[in-house]
Formats: sequence, structure tokens, C-alpha cells
Amino acid sequence: TTVVKIGGARAVDPEGALADVASLVEDGEDVVLTHGGSTAVDETLEELGEEPTYVETPGGVVGRFTDEDTMDVFKMVMPGKLNTDLVESLQTLEVNAVGLSGTDGKLLEGKRKSAVRVKEDGKKKIKRGDHSGKIESVNADLLETVLAGGYTPVVSVPMLGKEKSGGYTAVNADADRAAAAIAGALDADLVLLTDVSGIYEDPDDESTKIDSASTPEEFSAVKSAAEGFMTKKVMAAEEALEGGASSVIVATANADAPITSALAGEGTTLE
Ligand code: ADP
Repeated sequence: TTVVKIGGARAVDPEGALADVASLVEDGEDVVLTHGGSTAVDETLEELGEEPTYVETPGGVVGRFTDEDTMDVFKMVMPGKLNTDLVESLQTLEVNAVGLSGTDGKLLEGKRKSAVRVKEDGKKKIKRGDHSGKIESVNADLLETVLAGGYTPVVSVPMLGKEKSGGYTAVNADADRAAAAIAGALDADLVLLTDVSGIYEDPDDESTKIDSASTPEEFSAVKSAAEGFMTKKVMAAEEALEGGASSVIVATANADAPITSALAGEGTTLE
């Protein structure tokens, strides 16, 4: 089984990846497609006259602050527009795709977090009203059932957040980490497709691409090379491997057969 995550960056064109999913599925391979969509969420927020909010944790990781209005837009854009668009394209390629959000069948479940620790103007604060969560369980059985039926699941966040007071709320979760949790639960290979051809020693120089990492020393080299959003991808990769994934490959989406190439060792392979 291969879990593929298509990035949400503007510079990513899903065409090549979707054609590759179609040929893998035709060859009898089980593929679970997952996707991000932060850029599209931001664009829709702006069209609606709302400001996307990003916060920095005390540890320096930047992430979206998802208030209630943002959560509504998130639901409209991710499992609504983007997921449906991908299912539509796969159907055109004769792949019988099934769109699922993390809330469907408790596919992605975990505690909801509403208060986050942030650093603002150098000061540490608690910001309340966030709609986010940490994925603690994946309904692998649901994905296996869908795959066994000959369908190709296309999975989108939100996840299903368990409230302390009981009940559930659909909340934001990082798409790379969602893909990682799924790959771990299915003992699958995870291909993270993005707008760069791998993890570079120098983020601005693609000739410094790291081909692979498997020892603790190689992993720390990868960690110190990753900046900005790539930091999250590396964190997700570690979670996937700890969770049982066979390998994680960070590779470009903008290639002819990007998944096949990634599985053949183009990109950065972590195992
Ligand atoms: P996506 O939206 O496709 O998931 P992200 O924007 O989250 O992708 O992450 C990819 C970005 O990470 C690249 O466009 C690049 O700017 C940045 N980056 C930071 N550090 C590195 C690195 N060491 N090697 C490659 N890219 C890096």
C-alpha cells in the first residue's frame, strides 16, 4: 500500500500525480491519496474578507490558528471543493475514487485542542478558541474495506476532535501529519509530494539534495537542514516511521510519474 500526500502549495500541479495514481491502481497497487490545501483556504478567507491567522509556538513552529469562522471555511474548501475536485479528476482517469474526510467513520480521531501556547511579540501567551487536534487513532479498517472493494480513498482533513465535555467537533489537523498517521496505521510507504525535489542541505540549492537517511546521524542532518514548513514534514515523517510506515519519501509533485519516481528513489527517502 502506498499513501500519497499532495501538497497544497500554489506551485504544485496535481495532474502528474493523479495520472500516476491511475496507473498504479491499474497495476493492482492499493493507493490512498491525501491532500492539503492551506493556500486555497487562505485565498477563500481573503475573498470572504477574513484574515488568515498564523501563530508561532514557543518552540518556533508556525501554524494556522483556526477560529470558528476559519473552521467553516476550512470545511467548505478542504473536504468540499478540493476533495471533490480530486475525486472528479480521478473518476475522469477511470479510478473509482471515494472522498472521505477525517470525520467520516472516525477515520482520523483524537483530542480537540482549543487553547494553544503561542509566542507573540516575544511574549508567551495562551490563545483560546482554536479548532485543532492531535490524531490519536486512524480507522484503518475503513480504509482497508474501501480498498478491498476496489475503490481508491481520497482523504482530507478535518479530523474528528473529541471534546473534554463529551461529543465531537471537526477540527483542523496538519495534512502531512494526517498522511503520516494513515501510513503508519496501514504499514504503508508514504510519499509526500511537494514543490521541491526533496530535502536539501541548503534549502536554496537543489544540488544539495539529501538522497536518503536511515541512521540517527543522517536523521539529525535532515532535521537541521529543514526550515519553515519543511520542519513539519520531517516531524510527520518521523511520526509515520514510528507508527509503522515502511518508508517516507519527500519528492516533487511536478514530474511525469512523481509517485513511481519517488518510490524508485528520486527525492529524499527516510527509513
Ligand atoms: P506543501 O504545501 O507542498 O506540503 P510546504 O510548503 O509545506 O509544502 O513545504 C515545502 C517547502 O519547504 C519548500 O517549498 C521550501 O521552500 C521549504 N523548505 C525549507 N527547508 C527546506 C529544505 N531543507 N529543503 C527543501 N525545501 C525546504
